[in-house]
Formats: sequence, C-alpha cells, structure tokens
Amino acid sequence: MENPKIGTLEVITGSMFSGKSEELIRRLRRAKFAKQKVVTFKHSVDNRYGENGVFSHRKESIFAYPVKDVAEMEKIMDENIDAEIIGIDEVQFFGDEIVDFCKKYVNFGKRVIVAGLDLSFRAEPYEPVPELMAIADEVDKLHAICTVCGKPAYASQRLLDGKPAYYEDPLMMVGTSENYEARCKRHFIINHRNEKKAKIYFFVGTEINVGKKFVEEMYIKNLAKHENIKSETIILSGNILNCEKNAIKNLRKKVEEKISKNDFLFVRITGGILLPIEKNYTILDFMCELRKDSEVVIVSKNKKGALNQILVMADLIKKSDLNLREIVYKKTSNNNEIEENQIIEKISKLAGIGYRMI
Ligand SMILES: [Zn+2]
Repeated sequence: MENPKIGTLEVITGSMFSGKSEELIRRLRRAKFAKQKVVTFKHSVDNRYGENGVFSHRKESIFAYPVKDVAEMEKIMDENIDAEIIGIDEVQFFGDEIVDFCKKYVNFGKRVIVAGLDLSFRAEPYEPVPELMAIADEVDKLHAICTVCGKPAYASQRLLDGKPAYYEDPLMMVGTSENYEARCKRHFIINHRNEKKAKIYFFVGTEINVGKKFVEEMYIKNLAKHENIKSETIILSGNILNCEKNAIKNLRKKVEEKISKNDFLFVRITGGILLPIEKNYTILDFMCELRKDSEVVIVSKNKKGALNQILVMADLIKKSDLNLREIVYKKTSNNNEIEENQIIEKISKLAGIGYRMI
C-alpha cells in the first residue's frame, strides 16, 4: 500500500466455483510473505472443509477464525489491534452489519479484503456484497465455467434432485457440487412455481412446401397421448416490403400471452429465418430472444439438393446459440431421393444432431 495510513477495501466476487476463496488466499499469503500481520475470518456456518481455515475448493488453506457474527469478529480484533490486513471469506453470511465493520477498519487504515457471492440462487443482488462492491476501492468479478457449455458462467444454478430450484424455494444453503452448478446466462434457469410456461418448438424448412405442417401435426398427435396438454400454433413469416408498425412489439406480446396459456407453442416459420420482421430485425433475432425456452426442428426432404441447405441451416442455428432438436426428412415420391441411409447419417453427424425419416 502506498500510504499505510489510508485503508482500502477489496471485494472479490462472482458465482460459486469461480475461485473467490483461492484469490483471497493468494492475496493473504502474499501479505504474509511480506511480513504483514493478517487476521482472517470465515463464518462458522461454513465448515465445508473443517473447523479452521478459509478453505478453498482446491483445499489450499490459511488459518481463519470461525466466527458467527460481527460481534465475535470485534472481540478477535480487540486482541489483534496491530493487524494490518483483514481477510473475510464468504462475507455474504455476515449480513448488513459487515458493511459498517469494513468501513470502520478501512478508516483505521487497514487493508480489508473480502470474498463472497454477489448474486443469490435467483440471480438477484445478494446483500451485503453489492453494497460492499459500491464502496470498495477495487472489485474483481471472477467467472467460473458453465457446466453445460463451457463458456464463462454468470450465476450459481441451484439444483434440487437434479432439477433447477424454483424462485420460491428457501434462500441459502452452503454449496456443494451436488446442489449447485456454475451456469452462463443461457443455461441459468429460474422458474416460478404455478407459472405456466410453454415449451416452444420452431419448425423451419429447407425449402417451400417441405412439410412443416405435417411434422407439426405429428408432434401434436404425439402430445395428444398425454391428457390435459394444451398447445397452440402460430405462423411466423418475414416482411420484406410492407413492414407493419410495431410488428416485433405485437409479436412479443402475442407469444408471451400464448406461452402463459399453453404447455407447448408451435411456431411454424415460413419464408426463411433470415427474413426481417421489422426493420433489420430478423426472424432469427426473434428466435434468439426465446432461446432458453425453445428448440428448433429442421424439416427437409430426402433429396440430394437439400443436403447443403440442411448443413447451412444447422450451422446457423448452432452459431446463434439456439437448441437444435432434430432434423426430420419427409420422403419424396420422385426418383431424385437419397437412397442410401449412409448419406443421411453422415449429414446428421456433420450437423451434430439426430434425424428421423417420415
Ligand atoms: Zn452455458
């Protein structure tokens, strides 16, 4: 520290498994090597890896006082008045009182370093860390890796019996890999109990009159086997010349309404996914808005001319981070059809998705 009389607050935050504790330990160890006096706290509720020690998930440890609240921290500070550095792990367990504690010791000239979660399992700001971030001199937001796709994670996904926890489920449990996973925004899921939310299937074709409606009816027939399942269909087409005003706004409203009333919503896309709906905003852009609750079905014919179309479509869908469900080939009656299953299988492998021939 340049001026030892002026204290600082450093906040290390991010989702679970982002390496916050490791980073805290790294900073505290450096201070110890520099012969500075360090006092470290952890919450006594957090004894994932034993009674003492701030323990990171990699099991690198440093001695920490297990305390249950700020009052206990103050007692330990009374015995360590010459401490230069204060480290606090899992700071979110200490509630709002920790903010005044940090301010006080920063004013006394200490370097205070805290690590903790900034978001709850609902991905909402989780006090006191957001307030500490605001008054901090330095904030580092670390990122874990999404367990589904490997991209930088955003929040901690709570899983109960392997399924995403609901918004209404009680707030906080100390995390283990069985209960929590780091997830990116796309793969983070939080639903409300009692809220109906239809699953969306987009049907896209590789050419005109390819049989999307037929495939959609097949899906509906399949659902009819189950009781009380409600579904609806909308047809979505692009507008090249005559753009309706507020087309996107109206479409969003319509889809939202249908999602809240059905178990499944089928969206049959006519005319190609790169056509605009309003201004330069395309059907694909709109599909991406719904990517978390939707899957895409490519409908094609088993004829040779369609193979490249399928690969281009599958590639575009994947690069747009949409979920590709399957490719359905509708048999043609002309003699230009692909006879060899080998070709179709190879194409599916290249597209990285399963297929059906109907
Ligand atoms: Zn992801």
